[in-house]
Amino acid sequence: MSNVFVIVEHKEGQVKRATLEILGHLKSQGIEPTLVALGAPGSMDSLGDSLGKNGAGKVVLLENEQLKDYTTEGYANALHQYLSANGATAVLTGASIQGKDLLPRLAAKFKVGMASDCVDFKTSGDSFTVRRPVYAGKCSKQVAFTKSPAMFSVRPNVLTMGEATETSPSVEKVSAEVGNIRAKVIEVKASESKALDLTEADIIVSGGRSLKSEENFKIIKDCAAAIGAAAGASRAAVDAGYAGHDMQVGQTGKTVSPKLYIACGISGAIQHLAGMRTSKVIVAINKDPEAPIFSKSDYGIVGDLFDCVPLLTEEFKKLKSES
Ligand code: FAD
Repeated sequence: MSNVFVIVEHKEGQVKRATLEILGHLKSQGIEPTLVALGAPGSMDSLGDSLGKNGAGKVVLLENEQLKDYTTEGYANALHQYLSANGATAVLTGASIQGKDLLPRLAAKFKVGMASDCVDFKTSGDSFTVRRPVYAGKCSKQVAFTKSPAMFSVRPNVLTMGEATETSPSVEKVSAEVGNIRAKVIEVKASESKALDLTEADIIVSGGRSLKSEENFKIIKDCAAAIGAAAGASRAAVDAGYAGHDMQVGQTGKTVSPKLYIACGISGAIQHLAGMRTSKVIVAINKDPEAPIFSKSDYGIVGDLFDCVPLLTEEFKKLKSES
């Protein structure tokens, strides 16, 4: 299949893992995509090397001063212009905050449908079929595309990256046409937390309303730090002010698929499960043996988190120091 494009997500010269997972999965199916990155002129010069380390064959840098910061219109206009001029048959990106915002706008410009948050995709003849969860993850459906280009976003952390052979990709700089951008970025306020992004973490330790205060949430953060995990939270904990919004997992928070998800004092409401049920291994700590989270867990501890979590943290630290 030719003319398959992957929209590269990058920050401060680093390519996001979701992009690399998509690249790896395409290559494992014998597809050589073109990777398209957008940004200000001169700001993306290191991306060719980074993508080459992961087996990219062709990289296109769409440059324009107005693409310095992400805007839906600027990115969608520039991509629509470039991709239609280059006969795109498929356009893929990560189902990140940016991907979820950008791809529907781009699909509307192409007047095609799109599939969001896919957990698998494969080629079928000259197009793709994808699998995506529906009804808060209770079912999944297979989607085929009736119009070209096929457009879909892929949930981060569900595809394995695989071993890549290092390449020296061709890197082409293209002056992007951004058209009329009606919304302007005035200020970017970065999260104060330097913590690992939840959607990219291999391990997540999450806490719920049961933590009772922001100070107590330190128990969760300490446990996460002991195993290099990211700390997450239920919405009830976020709404109560115990944890930041960027830590919320669930239907109205982030969708995560880590290798290990440890839910501490979280009941397992359907809206929370919607955001973490594709985790590879789920461990629940809850003092109520009837808590719904146990029915979705691979391992469970019936106990008080204020006893169990510090004990786990100590054990994790010991194991880390021995390894
Ligand atoms: P609770 O339901 O209060 O559960 C606390 C649990 O902790 C209980 O199971 C209890 O047994 C246990 N516990 C208490 N003390 C201890 C202790 N000392 N040790 C061990 N266990 C203890 N929720 C999300 O998480 N994410 C979302 O994105 C989200 N989106 C929503 C969207 C909508 C439209 C709606 C209506 C709701 C949404 N919710 C979401 C809220 C969701 O329905 C639940 O209310 C929420 O997940 C409950 O959080 P919790 O499990 O922390 O709290």
